Amino acid sequence: MNTITLEQCRSLDQQDPLSGLRDHFDLPQGLIYLDGNSLGALPKAAASRVAQVVTQEWGQNLIRSWNTAGWFQMPQRLGNLIAPLIGAGHNEVVVTDSTSINLYKVLFAALSISADQDPARRVVVSERSNFPTDLYIAQSLCRERGFQLQLVEPEEIESALTRDVAVLMLTHVNYRTGAMHDMAALTAAAHAKSILTVWDLAHSAGAVPVDLTTSKADFSIGCGYKYLNGGPGAPAFVWVNPVHADRFWQPLAGWWGHAAPFEFTPDYRPAHGITRYLCGTQPILNMAALECGLEVFTAAQALGGMAALRIKSLVLTDLFIALIEQRCGGHGLGLATPRQHAQRGSQVCLTRDSGAFAIIQALIARGVIGDFRAGDGGVHKDILRFGFTPLYTGFEDVWNAVEQVRQVLENGEWQRPEFNQKHAVT
Ligand SMILES: *Cc1c(COP(=O)(O)O)cnc(C)c1O
Repeated sequence: MNTITLEQCRSLDQQDPLSGLRDHFDLPQGLIYLDGNSLGALPKAAASRVAQVVTQEWGQNLIRSWNTAGWFQMPQRLGNLIAPLIGAGHNEVVVTDSTSINLYKVLFAALSISADQDPARRVVVSERSNFPTDLYIAQSLCRERGFQLQLVEPEEIESALTRDVAVLMLTHVNYRTGAMHDMAALTAAAHAKSILTVWDLAHSAGAVPVDLTTSKADFSIGCGYKYLNGGPGAPAFVWVNPVHADRFWQPLAGWWGHAAPFEFTPDYRPAHGITRYLCGTQPILNMAALECGLEVFTAAQALGGMAALRIKSLVLTDLFIALIEQRCGGHGLGLATPRQHAQRGSQVCLTRDSGAFAIIQALIARGVIGDFRAGDGGVHKDILRFGFTPLYTGFEDVWNAVEQVRQVLENGEWQRPEFNQKHAVT
């Protein structure tokens, strides 16, 4: 393999048609931010937009802003900005609530639709290393409704799709490893057995191209504060295939999901389509910040959109893997992320038998922000996780990040006590 040089990384930046998108973000000088898969960066427009919503729309116009500033339509308006990123149609997505809560709604609906068709199906299949909140929500729903949750390894999914399965619930890109499922193939395998699918796009939306419509997925949810850069606690999104959208009252049937909320009738009458997946009043300030994040994707559209972002993301992650192998050999690092492009999201996860947490802390002290995810003491090792957001990460950043990893490993500074202290959020 040819040795990669800093000059080559710089020239990749010079040739990068997407490099200007970084100007849409306020990133601290000198920081290399590789955690946009956990909390996306601040869009430059957000601070003044939120200030304007506070001072003008709230402060001056008060309750009139529900109409005059379009507050009431924000779930649909923002949903329509997300739709092209995930292969959904116009008016098929709403932004609302959190990922966890939206999962509760769609999994409940999927179980109800399945039970209507074939009450004998009593199993939900998911992946053992799915993000915990997804598993917890599924556990609680299964208990409540008399289903069983069956957890399997990725290679066991297809064989687990038997006649007693109601729903296959998966996260498209695994949060620990960055491994990506073939959504179309697994959905087809599930449908061949009359099983409904629920896809969590928390690590996919804005990171990799997704095509819910062509994949014929049934239900989908995703996160607003990761690759969509909506800010801490930004509301999440929900999509339901139009063939199902009108079939069921979702379980949190609040007034925002009513066909005519301002008639204030005592009886619930669900709105048509995805609007019924709303529950109650939405956090308008968070919505305003998320809209700024989504507008960056609108700007990216003119430069090739998700297809162009995907190409850059793969070059970034390929480069990181190659540089780690070239410059950090002999330090016990392994690769948890698949090398095959079709199986990789937009992050690279390294393994190490010990010291992963402290190495991440030492990197953060040097201005390279990634994060740590604990292993299970068994097959899943501790992970050093690095997210590559093609909207604002450059190729020289990758070089510099690997150089810091090299120094931290070579001089052993990660072993210092201050890097071995755990905090509430890792
Ligand atoms: C980040 C993430 C979530 C977050 O759920 P919240 O309700 O926003 O806390 C859920 N699922 C997956 C797969 C995630 O990666």
